Amino acid sequence: MARTNMRATRTKPTQAELLVCRVLRTERVSPSFTRVVLGGDDLARFTPLGFDQWFRLFLPVDGGDLAHAPHKLDTVSYVKFLTTSKATRPILRNYTVRAFRRLPGGDELDIDFVMHGDGHGGHDAPTAASWARSANPGDVVGIIDEGIGFDTRMLGHPLLVVADESALPAAAGILGSLPRTVEGAAVLEIPDDADVRAIDAPAGVTVHWVVREHGHAPGSAALSMATGLPSRPEQAVWVAGEQSLPRDVRRHAVQTGIPKEQITFIGYWRVGRSG
Ligand SMILES: Cc1cc2nc3c(=O)[nH]c(=O)nc-3n(C[C@H](O)[C@H](O)[C@H](O)COP(=O)(O)OP(=O)(O)OC[C@H]3O[C@@H](n4cnc5c(N)ncnc54)[C@H](O)[C@@H]3O)c2cc1C
Repeated sequence: MARTNMRATRTKPTQAELLVCRVLRTERVSPSFTRVVLGGDDLARFTPLGFDQWFRLFLPVDGGDLAHAPHKLDTVSYVKFLTTSKATRPILRNYTVRAFRRLPGGDELDIDFVMHGDGHGGHDAPTAASWARSANPGDVVGIIDEGIGFDTRMLGHPLLVVADESALPAAAGILGSLPRTVEGAAVLEIPDDADVRAIDAPAGVTVHWVVREHGHAPGSAALSMATGLPSRPEQAVWVAGEQSLPRDVRRHAVQTGIPKEQITFIGYWRVGRSG
């Protein structure tokens, strides 16, 4: 994960052990997103918390399995995981709970993957995006819950939410979880106007969709829109995406007088950097 101040204020999960899940189905929800729906008995132990709840995702690649995935992600097991041969360990990435359903036939968890790159992210190494693109029912994955990054102490404040497409599932989760009395704005950047989707947000939160022009830097359109909106010192800010976006939105917010402790910024990914 690129730079963030989330750890200090995050809501930790109720349990954080490896849950083994299976792909139930996949769906191309819009030009830039593939949804993978997970199921499996282990999801009975998952507690959905709403907001931007995220998890560590372990993907067996090249015919591998989850034998080398850690049971928990404490420092010791993480170091052990990283020292396991790359050829045998699953790839580890961070993803968001887009939706969770308790159903009589079995629980379901949705993940919305951004379809970046050419199938392999421009690299020889497999990526989560390429895995999602070719996932099949029955494929096994592991998840370890990480809880909520959104600072729930900010719920009494007017709110600004800013996201690129990688953080759209998280922004949608936050907007859908907010008390209906919250006021504010959301700036959501997408690569394609067909990526606009229905968003459940309080009536007092204005949702601005901005389509990034082809070839422009990720986050640039959201930054331009977000920094043009009126700013108030009592405002709380949640911003996530390619690391330049949270860095620059935070800088602007601080310059306009918003106290740093009212700003949660999370670098979700970094141009040219894997993992
Ligand atoms: C808390 C958290 C929650 C997240 N939730 C989601 C989520 O729900 N959905 C989601 O799609 N992403 C999400 N992300 C971002 C995701 O973890 C990264 O984009 C990750 O790098 C994707 O892994 P990969 O294996 O596909 O590509 P990598 O192997 O990590 O990267 C390969 C190449 O692709 C580039 N790249 C990586 N991500 C993107 C992107 N989104 N757009 C364009 N180029 C990219 C890299 O810069 C690199 O050059 C989240 C990140 C965090 C920290």
